[in-house]
Amino acid sequence: MDFGFGLNPSSSIELDKVDISLYEKLCSLEPGARTCIACGSCSATCTASSYSGMSVRKLLLDLQRGRNQEVEQMLSHCMLCGKCTMVCPRGINTRRIILTVCRLFDNVEGEQ
Ligand code: SF4
Ligand code: SF4
Repeated sequence: MDFGFGLNPSSSIELDKVDISLYEKLCSLEPGARTCIACGSCSATCTASSYSGMSVRKLLLDLQRGRNQEVEQMLSHCMLCGKCTMVCPRGINTRRIILTVCRLFDNVEGEQ
């Protein structure tokens, strides 16, 4: 029977099996990334967020879950304005984190 809607595919993640090497590399270069408390202040102040879904909070969570493709797509929407850095209660240099993640993706593509 067609109800006109479907169920979303499962979004469960087996954390023991995902590749989080990019997140670990980021944390070795930018230890501040580990201190994020996922408060969302960065996303709330981001001009690009409501139009594109750009969010440093989500970017860090996605990296921790091995969702690197989602992160790469998100990065293209960042304007590097630095507003998120100004409001982070943990003093994380989120703009520099974004640039570092961009460089890590460049390196990954260079290795392939
Ligand atoms: S504002 Fe800072 S602590 Fe809050 S979610 Fe963003 S990066 Fe994390
Ligand atoms: S630097 Fe990027 S993520 Fe941060 S507020 Fe600006 S557009 Fe948003």
